[in-house]
Amino acid sequence: MKFNTKTIHGGQEHDPAYGAVMPPIYQTSTYAQTTPGGHKGFEYSRTHNPTRKALENAFASIENGTYGLAFASGLAAIDAVIKLLKPGDEVISTNDLYGGTYRLFTKVFEDFGVKFHFIGMENADKVESYVNENTKLIWAETPTNPMMNIIDIKALASVAKKHDILLGVDNTFATPYLQQPLDLGADIVMHSATKYLGGHSDVVMGALVVKDEALADRLYFIQNASGAVCGPQDSFLVLRGIKTLHVRMQRHCENGKKVAEYLANHPKIEKVYWPGFESHPNHEVAKAQMKDFGGMISFVTKGNDYDEAIRIVENMKIFTLAESLGGVESLSGHPASMTHASIPKEEREKTGVVDALIRLSVGIEDADDLIADLEQAIG
Ligand SMILES: *Cc1c(COP(=O)(O)O)cnc(C)c1O
Repeated sequence: MKFNTKTIHGGQEHDPAYGAVMPPIYQTSTYAQTTPGGHKGFEYSRTHNPTRKALENAFASIENGTYGLAFASGLAAIDAVIKLLKPGDEVISTNDLYGGTYRLFTKVFEDFGVKFHFIGMENADKVESYVNENTKLIWAETPTNPMMNIIDIKALASVAKKHDILLGVDNTFATPYLQQPLDLGADIVMHSATKYLGGHSDVVMGALVVKDEALADRLYFIQNASGAVCGPQDSFLVLRGIKTLHVRMQRHCENGKKVAEYLANHPKIEKVYWPGFESHPNHEVAKAQMKDFGGMISFVTKGNDYDEAIRIVENMKIFTLAESLGGVESLSGHPASMTHASIPKEEREKTGVVDALIRLSVGIEDADDLIADLEQAIG
């Protein structure tokens, strides 16, 4: 089955009870048993729920995996991955990691004795230089947020394989429409399904997909034991979202290209970060591992003026100033005062998050309207 069919049919069966074409929302916590243990595979909804199961099968299908797991949020999914580790274990991760992941690693799991290294991951040899006998996991994000750096998943996978380390990839920004990390050698792919998979800014959810049975068993055990599962209503919404993922992504990419090119030619813009430009430092890797370049763009105005950036995001009318990304509607964000405000200025500027950096999640509206909105806001 090809990807554009998998988004609609992957892992799905018509409901065995009445043949419903869409999986019903099984809004139940428990299931009747005819005799102790005599049930139809469902005992209690923390452990299994038919609507969640349908969604988990869809996750596995679109990521070319074997096992899918749905969680209450993206961070709950990452939390389950780190619970594979023990005190003394070490993790190598990116230095421009999603802020919430950085917080989970440093403010929660460091207290449990897990050690994290945050480094630039564009060079796999550099990543390998951080490997020691305690290294158990490499955790990557690509494209990164908000600087749109591209990390070579295949190169990381060869380091991970060589040293028998797990490789996990947060695929939230790219989605499986653009890249499928398991095919490139990753062991675990993770999503904040809150973003593109849900696609409509109406649900918070996380996903993991793996191929290895023993790894899946351990993660299912953690999912049930820790209990950060999502409800049936939310499962239904994300299943519905996934059915249009390919058409939405196609438009996100088309609009992203138009907006990136418009900004790159604007006299008031200093720099545009978007992996589709040939001048992007990792463009060749992006071209090799991604099908297209997506709708996430960051840019900096000339003069790097904090107040001007604030004025621009306030002036936008179609782009809504908000946290999050990946919905059908366009959003803008100002990392220095929003997502990265807690990081000291000198620290954030080292990774490129300067005062005037603005991040756009380009939606699927008409590109002419989006460009007109930017035109009036930038002035
Ligand atoms: C939003 C996001 C997360 C966290 O997901 P939640 O669903 O908000 O818990 C993790 N990684 C990336 C790249 C994200 O954008």
